[in-house]
Amino acid sequence: GDGAISRSQAFHSIVRSEHEVDQPPGNLVSTVFQDAAKWGSRIALECCLSGRNCTYNQLLDGISKWSGFLTTLGLEKGDVIAIMMPNSPVFPIVMFGTISSGVVITPVNPRYTTEELVRQLNDSGAKLLVGDTSVEDIIMDSLRLYKKPLQVVMNRPSRIPGALNLNSILSDKTIPYMDTVEVGVKDTAMLPYSGGTTGPPKGVVISHGALAINLKMLEHDHFSFTKNATETTRQSFVTSLPFFHAFGVLAELLVGFANGTKLLTMPFFDPKIYIDSLSKNKVEMLQLVPPLLNFLINSPIATAEKLESVKAITIGAAPVHPSAKEALNEKLNKNILFQEVYGMTEVLASHYIPVNQETRSNLLPNVSVKILDTLSRELLPPTSKGEIYIKSPSTMTCYLNNEEATAETIDSEGWVRTGDVGYFDTDGYLKIVDRNKELIKVKGFQVSPSELEDLIRQHEQVLDVGVVGIPNDRFGEVPRAYVTTKTLISENDIHSFIDNRVAPHKKLTGGVVFIDEIPKTGTGKILRRELKKLALEA
Ligand code: AMP
Repeated sequence: GDGAISRSQAFHSIVRSEHEVDQPPGNLVSTVFQDAAKWGSRIALECCLSGRNCTYNQLLDGISKWSGFLTTLGLEKGDVIAIMMPNSPVFPIVMFGTISSGVVITPVNPRYTTEELVRQLNDSGAKLLVGDTSVEDIIMDSLRLYKKPLQVVMNRPSRIPGALNLNSILSDKTIPYMDTVEVGVKDTAMLPYSGGTTGPPKGVVISHGALAINLKMLEHDHFSFTKNATETTRQSFVTSLPFFHAFGVLAELLVGFANGTKLLTMPFFDPKIYIDSLSKNKVEMLQLVPPLLNFLINSPIATAEKLESVKAITIGAAPVHPSAKEALNEKLNKNILFQEVYGMTEVLASHYIPVNQETRSNLLPNVSVKILDTLSRELLPPTSKGEIYIKSPSTMTCYLNNEEATAETIDSEGWVRTGDVGYFDTDGYLKIVDRNKELIKVKGFQVSPSELEDLIRQHEQVLDVGVVGIPNDRFGEVPRAYVTTKTLISENDIHSFIDNRVAPHKKLTGGVVFIDEIPKTGTGKILRRELKKLALEA
């Protein structure tokens, strides 16, 4: 093959997983719900607030009803539907019903502003938008700005002219149920948005095959986490990861539904409801982003008694503090099994990062990794620190309508440039030590510096701007803008200029700092490292 070798011979240059899984054929929905008939009468989804729930049989019915509805509308394979909703029991019905019919789902962060929603609608060319009434005003404004025809479906009665009602559709006897359609593994299932290593958010084209094989990779027997995750471990999840992000899709929806799990949903994160739901449902396995682990460590309501049932935690989407695991175990006086997962929207989940002895391996099946020098891009021995490149069958197809960004991210052999820095330690485990790309992660959510810079540059007094992430105890990182201006303006002028145009996690919580000049390379690229240095010196 490609010169790949096993972990024990880590002096070579390309490290390949010792494990293999087969590509599941056809539609993702068939793979995920393969065993669902076995647990048809179990609860599949339940809202922690309203108590509204549905069984696996009802979920499957909903999926095929929604799929039938899309067909009656004339939507076809490859058409795109947007969903803008917090986690709720209907979200997976719409998502998997769409995918089942061969139509593509593009998930929109429900905290997005009108401007952000319109950008995603324009870029994806969505023909239908399924929305939650909490974002009714945003959707209404977007309809004025989006120039293509857009059918709106709302989950509750709505004042949006022409909007259909989701519940009426799902209970409409005149709409036929439709079976899962045949697709090829390369056909597109999802279109989430990601900034990748550089630039504004781009549509990440993810195939049925990529998601289906990634589920099999995560479920491979070898990984101790999976082995320890007995059937009881998977009885209930309280979903704190958003369903609109790849980590939530994989760790909650795909792993959950493939195992007959009851998924509890919260429309927004409420500490007390979360803790009480974990306790009431005797939840054994948590899926977390690092700030939520900090919450469990620090919050007085997260007591040993309330978390008595918890046995395992899967965590990722941003760096995890090395002492966090001990801190939680010490507080609760127990030995929770931790598994840190590394992933990226463009490659999905690729490896586990060892956090304790129980974790014995780390590259997921079928994954190869190589380390290149960050500057010269020459192949390094895996034990040297450098930029991580990943080759995996779960890699995206491309960035939507963006050959240039695709070519910069995936080479002709299928290697993906991650923009993350790491190395293989002496035991042959891949570790992440730094991020070499501009991407900022706030609570695990992406913030694209160039998107913020483009907005701030529109302020008439701004000459130039560079945005970087600065470390933050609560959120991991927060964005800070370094700005040069024509005249004297205040920090608040910049805040008020962008605050109502971006989702809350993109606000400049790290502050606005006025400087004389934005440090740049000879070719005019912002020297973000220099800005970060300024931030650390301050
Ligand atoms: P996203 O596409 O939103 O999933 O973001 C992917 C990026 O998040 C990666 O390229 C990393 O920079 C970061 N990331 C994800 N998981 C981890 C992890 N376990 N440790 C450190 N960084 C991570």
